[in-house]
Amino acid sequence: MSNETTEKVQVLIIGSGPAGYTAAIYASRANLKPVLYQGIQPGGQLTITTEVENYPGYPDGIQGPEMMVHFEKQAARMGADIRYGLATKVDFSQQPYKVQIDEEKWIEANAVIISTGASAKWLGLESEQRLNGFGVSACAVCDGFFFRGKEVAIVGAGDTACEEAMYLSKLCTKVHMIVRRDQMRASKIMQDRVLNTPNIQVYWNSVTEEVLGDKKVEGVRILNTKDNTTTDVPVGGFFVAIGHQPNSDIFKGWLDMDETGYIKTIPGTSKTNIEGVFAAGDVQDKVYRQAVTAAGSGCMAALDAERYLAEKGLH
Ligand code: NDP
Repeated sequence: MSNETTEKVQVLIIGSGPAGYTAAIYASRANLKPVLYQGIQPGGQLTITTEVENYPGYPDGIQGPEMMVHFEKQAARMGADIRYGLATKVDFSQQPYKVQIDEEKWIEANAVIISTGASAKWLGLESEQRLNGFGVSACAVCDGFFFRGKEVAIVGAGDTACEEAMYLSKLCTKVHMIVRRDQMRASKIMQDRVLNTPNIQVYWNSVTEEVLGDKKVEGVRILNTKDNTTTDVPVGGFFVAIGHQPNSDIFKGWLDMDETGYIKTIPGTSKTNIEGVFAAGDVQDKVYRQAVTAAGSGCMAALDAERYLAEKGLH
């Protein structure tokens, strides 16, 4: 660390989705002068969605990217110091905690709020990427409503895929579920629900060869790997539910995580196994993953940080 610059701050917030900005709003109002680093995707996952209709307070709905501009503006107005930059390494061995930014500068903080989110996994098809936001989505709860009365396809066979297929089956005329093996990974009860829903058709041993459509999704080409046949199915929406990856790599070895890398918090709080280090939003939540729940947990993290600093005599 000898040639690198170091800056001391009271509260450092890592990540700029609803959890990070909400933590910044609360921490600023508590006069904790938070510094927030936005990370690789300022605004987080909502910047790659289109319309958000389930965030309370927007009766007419709002575009995801615009909503995140509102979050940022509100945090800035309260006095948060919002900066470009990616946390690249941490040293939580002692107070103050150290976080490296962009592999060069180090920040020392009395309290750290981790809100680095999660990233949806994608299949990796060119057509999937090109039509992302134009019928391709990784979130049925966010985008399913736009396909009501239409046919859609969903890829995946875990609990998320089953849950999302069930959700879509209530809105859409038909759900084509593409499963790569001859069985599902999901819990038995979720599988049973899916298999007993008349308007969900499961394609076993099947992979997505192509998402069809020029400017928007018009169909999906499904390859059956058993008999090597392809079928083009007309659909308006294509949902990918093959898992999420929490953005927690740099915290490995410091913080307790579950087997898939979600940071563990003490239930009902944002506290991690290191006192003074808090986690909020999708990086610690694989169940709800909503903007509003992330925002709520960001609020919890700021309040937990404030109490921690007061108890330690650091504020
Ligand atoms: P999982 O990792 O459990 O499942 C991912 C699914 O996607 C698997 O079926 C996998 O197939 C499939 N998949 C992965 N990559 C590809 C690919 N390239 N092409 C096609 N299919 C692919 O993720 P989930 O998000 O479903 O669940 C994450 C965790 O959250 C789990 O522990 C789950 O139980 C939990 N959860 C619980 C819920 C509940 O209890 N209500 C709701 C949602 C999640 P394969 O099986 O062949 O590997």
